[in-house]
Amino acid sequence: MPIARVTAKAETGPLETAIAQFEAAAERLNLDHGLRQVLGTCKRELASNFPVQMDDGSTKVFTGYRVQHNLARGPAKGGIRYHPAVTLDEVRALAMWMTWKSAVVNLPYGGAKGGVIVDPKTLSPTELENLTRRYATEISIIIGPNQDIPAPDMGTDERIMAWIMDTISMHRGYTEAGVVTGKPVSVGGSLGRKEATGRGILYLIQQLCRDKGIALKGATVAVQGFGNVGGVAATLLAQEGARVVAVSDSSGGLHNGKGLDVEALWARKKAGANLCDLKGGDRLSGEELLTLPVDFLVPAAMEGQITGQIAGGVRARFVVEGANGPTTPDGDAVLADKGVLVVPDILANAGGIIVSYFEWVQDLQFFFWAEEEVRERLQRAITRAYREVCALAEKERASLREAAMLLAVARVEEATRVRGIYP
Ligand code: NAD
Repeated sequence: MPIARVTAKAETGPLETAIAQFEAAAERLNLDHGLRQVLGTCKRELASNFPVQMDDGSTKVFTGYRVQHNLARGPAKGGIRYHPAVTLDEVRALAMWMTWKSAVVNLPYGGAKGGVIVDPKTLSPTELENLTRRYATEISIIIGPNQDIPAPDMGTDERIMAWIMDTISMHRGYTEAGVVTGKPVSVGGSLGRKEATGRGILYLIQQLCRDKGIALKGATVAVQGFGNVGGVAATLLAQEGARVVAVSDSSGGLHNGKGLDVEALWARKKAGANLCDLKGGDRLSGEELLTLPVDFLVPAAMEGQITGQIAGGVRARFVVEGANGPTTPDGDAVLADKGVLVVPDILANAGGIIVSYFEWVQDLQFFFWAEEEVRERLQRAITRAYREVCALAEKERASLREAAMLLAVARVEEATRVRGIYP
């Protein structure tokens, strides 16, 4: 598979969005052509077609990827996605965003992402385990605690991380806990990792409320995507007194102007229910959710949801991006014109990578922390990054996304330049 220099300019694909955001920062930082090429290109790309034995005795071939974007600041870090719509370009975009995310919160990591083209809901537990162990074997040549450390993303969870850790450990002949994060606590996971991304969103919204003089108690919230990020964020926000008026998953959305019983819905969702089968509110479409008049809109599902056209109808005061790349450049421009404040993905959903970093540190030291300590350190790390981004936004008269990208790209550029080009 050739390593593609990505030059596309076009509209709404995740890679085009990621490239447009990078090019804007590179332009503002006046990066020279060579560094632009290095930073705008994914360093290493592995594509594999691999066989999996199915329960009925047949063999099926699946396609998976692992892409490392930049390694200048440390080992690559990023999740693994199981989804039928995974493409190599999507994985490249997600890998690039991981580099900027690690840099904006100042973690010693580069960026990577993995994906398998599969709908995990169609596999039996045995088939899912077979697929995971074979995919882990395929990418084993480029992952490791000092090389590249995967984590969960859409369609994957701690059980899948445990299988990956076990597969790599079997190959190496010893337990290699630090090869993935987001593992169960019983095999070297960190307390507080599972809900870290949602908790990071809560901490940022609390900070925003303080800065803007808004009471979180009674503030209205709509959350698109009711999974590990959106489900946890909605639950924690409701526990702090926010009125979560709408949530959605891929089966549809639920709306209740008086506030949904989020804890009950989340418990049912975790037990395997779809929102379309649950009660407590009226049905609403994806577009209706995104255009509700709320204080906080949290898109926490997929890329490319807030396009220019959808942004025209957005009535939220703040958009806090739980998902990676939920807003297209057109959408961003429209939101900026309307004065909607967007907390960008690389900052808003960084709670996951921050606690993944804590998990990796604990694994490398065989020394584990209390949950209180994890939470305090998460709050400090994400608040510090938010403050730095806000200060730069003010200084540069930039949006929070532009400022976050300037901070991140400058850090990665510096590391790349200081290390030099080998040989
Ligand atoms: P998940 O698989 O746990 O949940 C995704 C949710 O989105 C599910 O409820 C699914 O039904 C829903 N969904 C999918 N398409 C939808 C649509 N069109 N409209 C409404 N809902 C839809 O995944 P996750 O881990 O919560 O990840 C969600 C997003 O957050 C992704 O963009 C991911 O890259 C990003 N993210 C995840 C983490 C993490 O720690 N898991 C960290 C940072 C960013």
